[in-house]
Amino acid sequence: MATTPTFATLPTYLGLSRSPAEAAIHVAGIPFDIGTTNRSGARFGPAAIRQASRMLVDGDHPHWWVDPAALPVADIGDFAIALGDIAGSLALIERQAAEHEHLVALGGDHSISLPLLRNHVRQHGPVAVVHFDAHPDTWDSEYPGQKYSHGTPFIRAIEEGLIDTAAYVQLGIRGPTGGPQDYADALKLGARMITLDEFRGRALSEVIAEVRQRVGNRPAYVTLDIDCVDPAFAPGTGTPEVGGFSSWEILQLVRGLKGLDLVGFDLVEVSPPFDPAGITAILAANLVFEFLSLTALAR
Ligand code: MN
Ligand code: MN
Repeated sequence: MATTPTFATLPTYLGLSRSPAEAAIHVAGIPFDIGTTNRSGARFGPAAIRQASRMLVDGDHPHWWVDPAALPVADIGDFAIALGDIAGSLALIERQAAEHEHLVALGGDHSISLPLLRNHVRQHGPVAVVHFDAHPDTWDSEYPGQKYSHGTPFIRAIEEGLIDTAAYVQLGIRGPTGGPQDYADALKLGARMITLDEFRGRALSEVIAEVRQRVGNRPAYVTLDIDCVDPAFAPGTGTPEVGGFSSWEILQLVRGLKGLDLVGFDLVEVSPPFDPAGITAILAANLVFEFLSLTALAR
């Protein structure tokens, strides 16, 4: 039995070591949030997720019976960013990500997925993308006057040839938008968009089977914007949309990715200033735990 109580462990994700040399998998925080279009605060996401992960320190996964902390995994701390400079920060993130072969990123706003994808594609070629989000993030505009923001990472990624669009699935899309064009743009780019309304009308197992079939044996990148979850479960985020996944549903959806060739993961848009009870960070810490458990199963 561990003698250090969970609340007194090292303030890293799962109390993990900080030594990258001993680990093949690196957890990193990316405290960047100036790509947000509404409420910022996701720069505090990594710290809140780490704090919330403390309760999981001694935990085995309750379904797979693996212990993610037993993986060769380290929490390497936070990436440097260029304060107030979107393009400069994305370039810096890309450069730092290139030093890590298997990265699990704690955001930060969704802009960070673009430099992370660039790095994964350098290693693997164009990847399948499983994208959980209330929003398609494929705005065909430079809204709001920025080519790079949390509303555009996936249109930019497709333009750059980073995504194998035959295996690009968006799940959880909903909420008021600028108009039908928002969805049409995403579909035109080749995304398979599973809206929340479609999801509600189908069996969970069917949706999982479709995602698995589309990804097949391609290397897959998983990006999880916490706003895919209902604000009743995850209020601490910059652009909340009512009527989302429950905590249980998003856990099941991530578990449904078991056995796929998962090459990278980010969890973004946790904004602690809007998370007074800390429940968003708790869910986020658990979703990272779910993802690392899939990695443990694969080894
Ligand atoms: Mn997003
Ligand atoms: Mn979103």
